[in-house]
Amino acid sequence: MIVDDESIALRPTTAWVDLGALRANVAAIRQRVGPRQIMGIVKANAYGHGLVRTSQELLAAGVDGLGVAFLEEGILLRRSGVTAPILVLGGIIGNQVVHFLEHDLQITASSPFKLQQIEEAAAALGKRAQIHLKLDTGMERIGVHWDGAAKLFEAAVSAQHCDLVGVFSHLASSDAADRSYTRLQLERFLEALDWFRQRSLPCPPRHLANSGAILQHPDTWFEMVRPGITLYGLYPTPEVERSVPLRPVLSLESRVVYFKVVREGSSVSYDSTWTAQQDTRVVTVPVGYGDGYSRRLSGQAQVLIGGQRHPVIGRITMDALMVDIGKSSAYNADPVVLIGAQGEDRIGVEEVAGWLQTNVYEVLTSINTRVPRRYR
Ligand SMILES: *Cc1c(COP(=O)(O)O)cnc(C)c1O
Repeated sequence: MIVDDESIALRPTTAWVDLGALRANVAAIRQRVGPRQIMGIVKANAYGHGLVRTSQELLAAGVDGLGVAFLEEGILLRRSGVTAPILVLGGIIGNQVVHFLEHDLQITASSPFKLQQIEEAAAALGKRAQIHLKLDTGMERIGVHWDGAAKLFEAAVSAQHCDLVGVFSHLASSDAADRSYTRLQLERFLEALDWFRQRSLPCPPRHLANSGAILQHPDTWFEMVRPGITLYGLYPTPEVERSVPLRPVLSLESRVVYFKVVREGSSVSYDSTWTAQQDTRVVTVPVGYGDGYSRRLSGQAQVLIGGQRHPVIGRITMDALMVDIGKSSAYNADPVVLIGAQGEDRIGVEEVAGWLQTNVYEVLTSINTRVPRRYR
């Protein structure tokens, strides 16, 4: 992201983004949700895929708007010329409101107090604020509790400088095999929104469904859905219903920078945690935890070289890792796949997440800005 073209050419490590797969995933989600609006979630550098380029491609592929976590992500998109609706999903601090208004970013109003701050800033600037009301139906992150939303609704419908463009909540377990908590959250959401029906007021566009809910809870789709991880071709959990066909978008590749024979009895890397039981061929790959390839993968990970799996041995260092290729041959500059396919084999983000005992989201968003993103 921060690396120019020339240095990309000099750096053998690349996070490749498959734009065809990205478009196919948008089409598959579109096929599933029909006429509902799609807000493509691009927080955290578009889940590691590169915020600006990925956002442009998503919009070209037909998403209706974008969602980010933080104000600065929205500002970066506006500065890059993105004109589509952008909602900042996270909580706000009062003095940020002027920046939202200046950059035409939609604001999450998560309490009556914050709504008042938005109203005052909009009045002072003579601008209209576009707001989405945030209800908490069981996540306990931000938002007013579903059973105490009346004050927020009253403030919103009487605000003079705000356009009420959405009302939403976030699901905590939509990707779980057990569907009961999502049902409870849906009931609470509907119960809160009854406030509008009782007063014969138009309800603003409702949105509740993240990827898990798109995959297995059609009754949560309402007027708009908010997919994140499925855009990038991954299922949020291993157990979620795979009702939409997806293609993984990101692969992480590097090249061999060094080849040697490690003699029997010699140990590899910091702390000498791995020792050769016999003479073996070892290559060095210029990727480390300083790129977001976790040190906790030491002794667990495998990579693909020459279409075959080989184990990462010894401690992963900040800038490099070593791979035992046994009796196979490899040469300097040979391609190494850390995530993705090579030959007949593939190492999925899911597999890396399994080694780390974390989710696919963390693996993707850990790949940091030192790794250039390239699009194909
Ligand atoms: C991150 C996020 C999403 C997208 O979640 P996925 O599981 O990646 O689909 C949707 N809504 C909100 C409020 C979020 O924070």
